[in-house]
Amino acid sequence: MATGPTSPSPSQGERVNTCPQVADEIKQTTCYMCACRCGINVYLKDGKIRYLEGNPDHPVNKGVLCAKGSAGIMQHYSPARLSKPLLRVGERGSGEFKEIEWEEALALATEWLGEVRSRDPRRFAFFTGRDQSQSLTGWWAAQYGTPNFAAHGGFCSVNMAAAGLYSIGGAFWEFGEPDWDHTRYFMLFGVAEDHDSNPIKAGLGRMKTRGQAKFVSVNPVKSGYSAIADEWIGLRPGTDGLFVLALVHELLKAEKIDWEFLGRYTNATWLVIDDPGGASDGLFLRNPEGQALCWDSVREAPVPAADVTAKAAVVGRFDLPDGRAARPAFELLARRYLDKSYAPEAVAARVGIPAATIRRIARELAEAAFEQEVVLDIPWTDWAGRKHDTMVGRPVSMHAMRGISAHSNGFHTCRALHLLQMLLGSIDCPGGFGYKAPFPKPIPPAPLPGGKTVMPDRALGAMPLGNPIGPENLLVDSEGRPTRIDKAYSWEHPLAAHGLMHMVIHNAWAGDPYRIDVLMMYMANMGWNSSMNVQGTLRYLTDKDPDTGDYKIPKIIYSDAYYSEMVPYADLILPDTTYLERWDCISLLDRPISSAHGPGDAIRQPVVKPDRDVRPFQDVLIELGARLRLPGFAYESGAPVYPGGYPDYIVNHERVPGIGPLAGWRGAQGTRHGTGSPNAGQLQRYIDNGCFWTHKLSPAQSHFKYANKGYLDYAKSMGWLPTAEPITLQLYSEILQKFRLAARGHGPIQPPDSERGRIETYFDPLPFWYPPFEEAAVDREEFSLHAITQRPMHMYHSWGSQNAWLRQITARNHLFVHPETAARHGLADDDWVWVISHHGRVKGQVRLMHGVNPQTVWTWNAIGKRRGAWGLDADAPESNRGFLLNHIISELLPQREGGHRYSNSDPVTGQAAWYDLRVRLERCLPEECGETDPFMAPVKAPPRRGVVDPDTLRYGLDLKCREPAVDGRGAAAKEWIGNRHEISLSVAGVADGKGNVKKGDPKGGPGRIPGDSGK
Ligand code: SF4
Repeated sequence: MATGPTSPSPSQGERVNTCPQVADEIKQTTCYMCACRCGINVYLKDGKIRYLEGNPDHPVNKGVLCAKGSAGIMQHYSPARLSKPLLRVGERGSGEFKEIEWEEALALATEWLGEVRSRDPRRFAFFTGRDQSQSLTGWWAAQYGTPNFAAHGGFCSVNMAAAGLYSIGGAFWEFGEPDWDHTRYFMLFGVAEDHDSNPIKAGLGRMKTRGQAKFVSVNPVKSGYSAIADEWIGLRPGTDGLFVLALVHELLKAEKIDWEFLGRYTNATWLVIDDPGGASDGLFLRNPEGQALCWDSVREAPVPAADVTAKAAVVGRFDLPDGRAARPAFELLARRYLDKSYAPEAVAARVGIPAATIRRIARELAEAAFEQEVVLDIPWTDWAGRKHDTMVGRPVSMHAMRGISAHSNGFHTCRALHLLQMLLGSIDCPGGFGYKAPFPKPIPPAPLPGGKTVMPDRALGAMPLGNPIGPENLLVDSEGRPTRIDKAYSWEHPLAAHGLMHMVIHNAWAGDPYRIDVLMMYMANMGWNSSMNVQGTLRYLTDKDPDTGDYKIPKIIYSDAYYSEMVPYADLILPDTTYLERWDCISLLDRPISSAHGPGDAIRQPVVKPDRDVRPFQDVLIELGARLRLPGFAYESGAPVYPGGYPDYIVNHERVPGIGPLAGWRGAQGTRHGTGSPNAGQLQRYIDNGCFWTHKLSPAQSHFKYANKGYLDYAKSMGWLPTAEPITLQLYSEILQKFRLAARGHGPIQPPDSERGRIETYFDPLPFWYPPFEEAAVDREEFSLHAITQRPMHMYHSWGSQNAWLRQITARNHLFVHPETAARHGLADDDWVWVISHHGRVKGQVRLMHGVNPQTVWTWNAIGKRRGAWGLDADAPESNRGFLLNHIISELLPQREGGHRYSNSDPVTGQAAWYDLRVRLERCLPEECGETDPFMAPVKAPPRRGVVDPDTLRYGLDLKCREPAVDGRGAAAKEWIGNRHEISLSVAGVADGKGNVKKGDPKGGPGRIPGDSGK
């Protein structure tokens, strides 16, 4: 009962109870309302979740909680929650299921998967969405023996990741961050406000408060972050690479580049063999030991580039004794980008930005980098033993995300951005971009992709995903045909480091390159917003073989916590828990919570018990592994290796001796960090520490990590690097050139003739720009507009738009159109319009908006829902007025000669080209207005159990004080909850030694929350 002090409200005469009893227990865990992994305190009252707040001690969010995070309660009590295993009894898509027991579900899955494994493991494909357990799921696939595994990265931002890993040994967001405290010029490329949510918001806040930095946002849409930028560059979608290379042109022309940085830390001086037509043309000149060579201008001879005494040339053409010649990589770079085709005047019309603006931005970059350098009085030692008294930084930082990545030219655009960073010398220096541990890694990082050999009842021998370093690492047969179902690591997409999840269903249906027997997916809404060509995808999922009458994809197992649009299209549903009901591991083996200041990882702990018959997917996967007797999951006797499920695995699994999912408190006594034997008390140590572990690098280790002896030694001791050798940043990519040489007929591994031209073109060792494929293929007059999507700040993927509280902010989407464009089409606010691509049409309502590139229309993604899904009412705005642009995006490019259709993806990495879409608009006829189209038949929903009735959602009413405190005039007092530093529990908290606060302090003193030092 609330009994605390009250204070009057001047306007209403109400009394506010400032010290209600808001909880009788507080548990800490990690948010999962988006991928940022903020720490949260969960207030529980009578076993129910009362309130969520940010954990002020957590390194990711420092107490900040966004709208999504706060609304986690409604995610947990969502009417869309699945409640029991389901077996399909009607036709696929009908939503007709019967409930079954877990034993039957697991036995069935084991039977299906076991049969395939004993025959041909390749005929099982396992793909997961935006889950945070990919080091487990990937390892499970490897133990099963299928190469057909990947997570969501292929349709998210693999261009960003791969370009970074092949250029600088790291990448943005989860692998790196700006130095918010020292930067003087921050450029944000293609970042919607749902991505890197709290950390970037907090960082922008810090930076803007400091008041010394300019913030430039490059994005066709001026929403979210762009709206608070000092300057908005609203360029045309897909032209970011051209814009960046024009900046490079200007900087080179003015010689505003960091020569010392280039010479010391990049391959600018490495000699590239100039031997047109030869097998070594374009490769680095190396000595017999394999060391790359540079030209020593004093000795007038090639010497190892790592020889710190060399006076390395950056330009020139040097004859070699064998008749060939060589040039420093920098010369090739300078020749290319100094060409007038990259001049601002030459690109301005295409980019949609005046040449003068491009020139000015280049000047500002140079001014920030070279006139405002940041000098920290921190002595450090480089890899060669050279001592430096200070750390000198070029305070220009950059961050980028899917907006520049999800194009068919995205890989080279992202490479261009890293090239710009390198030329400015602004990588991992004070004020620049900083790597998050365990990055930087060797370029590219190990491992190679597994799956060259696939045998019945055998593990793969390597993880399915990796980073090829040449054609010999491709997964192709003797004819050069793809051997993975998604064609990752084939000649069509050689560096597909995250697979091509968006192609799996199409390819499995088409039998191209082969059919599969079982498809298992987790947290991937492929029946709706995660697929291009939704209608086609649903057809692939329901199409039957006319000869056998069986579905062309015979068996589909799906796990999710919610009744998404994908569920009705699966045969066996394994219901997952919500994120507040399970253990999880946010691992250095996957995507940890590190910062540029040091490594960190985290866990989730169950804060409430499931009230439904559901199980965490990770537990289920481990049990299936044991039932299938997969190596690593079952002993020879058949006994499970991890009988305690996922928490058992988190603690006891060792990927290599001494290295497991969590880095903190290892060793029998929990005294070691990074490496060490398993510690039975490890999870408790995490709980006691707020569910995270961090280590702060010493100041001397904190910058120039690719060449910093102190850091490299530490990284090696932690098992992140095989050696403490320096990592040389790659302006020029020899790996790309190796593929190009194969296309020219060199080497034992040859592409099919049909692929030679494509490899020759797109495996350019220096970044270049080309028009996105759809733009090049369609009639640009007819489809004169770009159409793109973003997610709002308060939503993440499809998760948010089923959330009762978040739906109150956004329950339907509009098509945002620039007023000039609208005027040309005779459109006004709220008009219904057809958005038409070469693939199809979809109907939505218009909103005018000045902050958008006039050649671009855009909308919020994944707001539109299918009727019957997600526990929403039939008349929900999401399914009647909301619309999904995915309907009009094709997963295939138009036919080329010979009839072949490539995936609508980047040719290097296979990244889904969501933002290449070109459209035209047609105003709807009066009789067409009123509801969206395609307007699909509703799916039938399974029974709901233990959920809040969505029609009368009054969650928390019973948790509130029923007996109001009253002031002297009899007015009711309202409850008020502040953050934890401002509340006290009237029935107090006493730490129970397990990191939880229980009621029962006889003195009734203020509650102490785990991790609270009381300061
Ligand atoms: S940014 Fe928001 S939704 Fe994402 S993890 Fe943090 S609190 Fe949760």
